[in-house]
This record gives sequence, structure tokens and C-alpha cells, in this order.
Amino acid sequence: MKKNIMVFVVFFTSICVGFAQKKIFYSDSPGSVKEIALTFDDGPNKVTKKILDILKKKNVRATFFLVGIRAKSNPDMVRAIVSAGHEIANHTFKHINFYSYEGKDKTIKIEEELLQSENIIKKITNIKTSLVRFPYGYSKSDAVEVAKKWGYYVINWSFGCDWEKVTAEEMYSKYKKAAKDGAIFLMHDLNENSKILLFLSDFIDELKKSNYKIVTVSELLGLAS
Ligand SMILES: [Zn+2]
Repeated sequence: MKKNIMVFVVFFTSICVGFAQKKIFYSDSPGSVKEIALTFDDGPNKVTKKILDILKKKNVRATFFLVGIRAKSNPDMVRAIVSAGHEIANHTFKHINFYSYEGKDKTIKIEEELLQSENIIKKITNIKTSLVRFPYGYSKSDAVEVAKKWGYYVINWSFGCDWEKVTAEEMYSKYKKAAKDGAIFLMHDLNENSKILLFLSDFIDELKKSNYKIVTVSELLGLAS
């Protein structure tokens, strides 16, 4: 009997410790895996179709962090992302920069932004998002707590530079240099003339040549999506 109680105590304690240590915030995979995740923020937009075409040609899956208000005005593109087998995630509703947000209702606003986007994506796809990337990588404790409350993981990135004013060649070379086990790459499906269109296909080839498996964020981090 005593032994049973001990077993129970050990079991219960390990569950508690497990909960206490549940990791919510990631910017790469903590384990060393020969895998990389490609992520696209701020869509859906017109350019999303071009990105989807490249990914399809290269037979790889990516994770799209959708802006709710854009999903609402372009539900067909959201459905196209899902039906192509990609993962969709939450990038909030109106893409507010919470680093500069000064309202006293900040935590409420963060929650609203998360849930409004969740609702619209769910309405379109019947999928409940469980990964969030707050705009500009905002990851202060108020946002992480809100995410945790609603069953989300907060996903930032290990490298991204497609907003920099550099040539496509320089950009491509920076992305290539940043390839590492467990990397999460940030790109945007925002501008129609995005420079990533010029090298995304080659970049995927390069990663494959270096034996990286390209996976979704959930797969990379071993999270249920
Ligand atoms: Zn964004």
C-alpha cells in the first residue's frame, strides 16, 4: 500500500513539474534536428498564390501566420493554403504593434486580437489555430500569458531579413548562411514584388541539398497542431 502511495506521489509530482515547465515560447527548435521550418507572415495577399506555386513545385509544406482581417477579405486564399497541405497559424487580427501600444487596455487588446483572428480563421477553415506570432515578434510576458491562457504556443523566428533594403542576392546569401538545425525562417507573403520570389525555389533546393528536411512549425517542435 505504502509503495502504491509513493508511486502515486512520484507520478503526481512529475505531472506538476511537467506542467510548470511547459514551454510556450519558441524561436527555434531546442533539440538538434536536421529540420527547418519556413514561415510566411502577413497574408493572405496576392503574392500568397505565387508562394504556394513555388512550394507546390518543390513539394514542401510551410506555416502561414495569417492576419485575421486579411483572411476575412480573402477567404479563398486561406482555403487554398489549407488545401495545399500547409499549416495555418494566428498573426492577430489587425496586426497592431504592441511594443508601441499605449492604451491601458493592452492585455484585453492582445486577447481580442488573438481571438478575433482565431474566430475568423475557424469560420473559414474549421481549424482552431494553436500557434501565434504576435506582430513584430512581440513576446513580452503579457502576450505570452494571454497565449497560454488560450492554449497557444508563441512562435518567433531564428532568422529573417526579407524586409531589409538589400539586393535579392544579398538577401538570399543571408538566408543561406542562417541555415542550422531546428531553424525557423521568417519570410512575408505581403508584397507582390517580394524579393523572396527570386530565390525561394533555389533556397529550398539548397536546404534539401544540405540534407535538411523542411517541415511545418508544429512538426519541427513536436507540437500537436
Ligand atoms: Zn507581421
